[in-house]
Amino acid sequence: MRILVVEDEKSIAAFLARGLKEEKFAVDVAYDGEEGMYLAQINSYDVMIFDIMLPKKDGVAMCRELRAKKINTPILMLTARNAVEDKINGLNSGADDYLTKPFSFGELLARVRVLLKRPTDNKTSVLKVEDLELNQLTFEVKRGRKPLKLNAKEYMLLQYLMLNAGHVISRTMISEHVWNEEFDSMTNVIDVYIAYLRRKIDRSFKKKLIRTIRGAGYMLGNPQ
Ligand code: CA
Repeated sequence: MRILVVEDEKSIAAFLARGLKEEKFAVDVAYDGEEGMYLAQINSYDVMIFDIMLPKKDGVAMCRELRAKKINTPILMLTARNAVEDKINGLNSGADDYLTKPFSFGELLARVRVLLKRPTDNKTSVLKVEDLELNQLTFEVKRGRKPLKLNAKEYMLLQYLMLNAGHVISRTMISEHVWNEEFDSMTNVIDVYIAYLRRKIDRSFKKKLIRTIRGAGYMLGNPQ
């Protein structure tokens, strides 16, 4: 699950990014409305969190423009305390929910979870590849009837492979999406985690789902 946070107050942005990463989300942060619009259009997010008061372009305008472009990703708006006007504008612009500052991380997470449960055009909460299932709301993973215990990084890696099942995923893509890191520092780590995943999802099953594509990366399931 990937979340975009657009917030110009660096301390709040950092607080949100840290908390969401601990909850196994991949997080991108932008500090003004233009950068936020750019990221919102080039990437595919599961939820977007916009502060309303932003440099260059405010959260309400971003929301209107994205909806006009048929980008229907759930949007949570952050508003100043008691700014009733903000809330009305925010919801009229196509935002799905709003949260008044200051808020606790727990409140924010609860709102995000509700938004994730809302089905959008092309996303469902349970990913399936053959008999492998990953539930993006409960974080449960099973193959056939066997529940599998994955740690946070294994989960995120598997989720990313499942979202892209049947397509070759390079190590660079994995390092950016799953670790939010530059590739150089990550080469060995990725291979190690692929080995961990194989042990869990493939070792005791006849049909192997994770394929190594020589010189290119990895692929889950049959080519599409
Ligand atoms: Ca602000």
